Amino acid sequence: MKELIITNKILNWYDIHKRTLPWRKKTSLNKKQYYTLVSEFMLQQTQVATVIPYFNRFIKHIPNLEVLAKYDDQKLIKLWEGLGYYSRVKNLKKTAQIVVKDFNKNLPDNILDLKSLPGIGDYTSSAIMAIAFNKPIIPLDGNIERVLKRYLYLKNENQIHKDNLIKHKKIFGTSLRSSDYAQALMELGALICKPINPYCERCPVSGKCKSFKKKGFCFD
Ligand code: SF4
Repeated sequence: MKELIITNKILNWYDIHKRTLPWRKKTSLNKKQYYTLVSEFMLQQTQVATVIPYFNRFIKHIPNLEVLAKYDDQKLIKLWEGLGYYSRVKNLKKTAQIVVKDFNKNLPDNILDLKSLPGIGDYTSSAIMAIAFNKPIIPLDGNIERVLKRYLYLKNENQIHKDNLIKHKKIFGTSLRSSDYAQALMELGALICKPINPYCERCPVSGKCKSFKKKGFCFD
């Protein structure tokens, strides 16, 4: 019940305040999988604002996995130029080739197969499962981790250990709108529960946030 309240509050906030991002466009399931894959690779080491024009250009030239699997290497690198960390785009193409050849052109919808693909680890596989396949998984990116730590006031080394965060993320509950919910939590961390000077007075869950209750305590 408590989780349901948090879930609804965060989703309601997201419905009103979410950013319009090109990979969030309503589209076919197939395209959504591709958009999620490309955006998650781009976002691995790069900020959202930087990624947007690169994503739009990439999708314009390479609209699906089949085209990507055969795309010329030089042209591919050119499309990525400026984003850096070129191993990402090399892995992205290898992943596309494997998906086309071994998975009938569809991204697999399970963690094990996703993690067998180049460039896809724990976080990216969870993000794809949640965002592209609407599975009730909360991917722990930097934004969600920060919200969780502050919401529960987790401070010391043991408390903020990854294993402990994984255990505690159940506090967020789950939603039938798993794709939106994962993105809503990320968005809350990016727009409201920012690394510095969070906007607690605008936060949909401030009423139950332990850090907020300890007003004046410095956030880190
Ligand atoms: S109340 Fe403040 S610290 Fe707590 S989750 Fe919201 S923005 Fe973060």
